[in-house]
Amino acid sequence: MSLSDEELQRYSRQIVLRTMGLEGQKKLKRSRVSIVGMGGLGCFSSVQLASMGVGYLRLIDQDVVDITNLHRQILYDTDSLGYPKVEIAQKRLTALNPNVEIDAMPLTVNEETAYDVVKDVDVVIDGLDHFAPRYAINKACVKHKIPYVYGGALETYGNVTTIIPEKTACLECFLGRLSDEGMPTCETAGVLPSILATITSIQVSEAIKLLTGGTPSLANKMLFIDMNALSFTSFNIVNRENCPTCGTQLIEAKPTVPGLKVVELCGKDSFMASPIQPLTLNIAEVAGILEERFTIKLRSTFGLTLERSDGVSISLMKTGNALIKGVSDKKDATTIYDELMATLKK
Ligand SMILES: [Zn+2]
Repeated sequence: MSLSDEELQRYSRQIVLRTMGLEGQKKLKRSRVSIVGMGGLGCFSSVQLASMGVGYLRLIDQDVVDITNLHRQILYDTDSLGYPKVEIAQKRLTALNPNVEIDAMPLTVNEETAYDVVKDVDVVIDGLDHFAPRYAINKACVKHKIPYVYGGALETYGNVTTIIPEKTACLECFLGRLSDEGMPTCETAGVLPSILATITSIQVSEAIKLLTGGTPSLANKMLFIDMNALSFTSFNIVNRENCPTCGTQLIEAKPTVPGLKVVELCGKDSFMASPIQPLTLNIAEVAGILEERFTIKLRSTFGLTLERSDGVSISLMKTGNALIKGVSDKKDATTIYDELMATLKK
């Protein structure tokens, strides 16, 4: 794979790096990376990876842009409010570097979708804010032997490690099975943009080492950073023989059953409903059917936002994911989703 004159110029200040060179740059061009979660972490890491010339980026996020995202999620601006994050991100990153192929997936990450999220990539970058989808990604990466650069940040703290299947501990080896229930979130605890920029810069540098044949610095090592004290501490982690994900006593995955998952989100009265098997809705068709019963507040390539007369807002993506705002009960959110789908099937 060769580089065009434009690319040689564009990347000249990194090709000259001793750790990169022309060969390293060509390797980046051949590389494929998934960025799971396009919030505070994914925005920063995707900008770096796209600018640097990674050939293919897959962006995964279930959410739409909210005003509370804008202090830290650098790909979005005031005009992006209400649009699917992956749609705006794809546009911005393509404008930033048209040499990069950018695939956008407005999808909820769970055990059923995790394989689609990680398949055929060389590295997976964590940009998630919950543990349940991280365990699903970890499991899919272990199964398909794809390196997973874990990163997390909240308040002024963050941590990062590089998981290489069959070589290092996996996420479950060192975290066990954490539940998202009762965990602090960005809404309750806040998050400082600079910790996100720091953690993601380290994630990117680990990914670049993996992609260009270097040695990652955080294999079997967790780096813990606190921006408030400006402290960087690391400790060794080891794999557990009885780890249910990567250990010798593996538990078989449950078979996929059709259905719907509804989870409460970080944010007031918000739920995400996602079909276990993603759908392929035609947004123009869907808008035609729904405009008789709802006010369509926003329509884009990847989805549309509807408002009911009682103020409940529903952002429906082409994958069938729906962000439902303005309801306080999971049951109500489920009913709203089921009714919406029933309308579409008529
Ligand atoms: Zn493990």
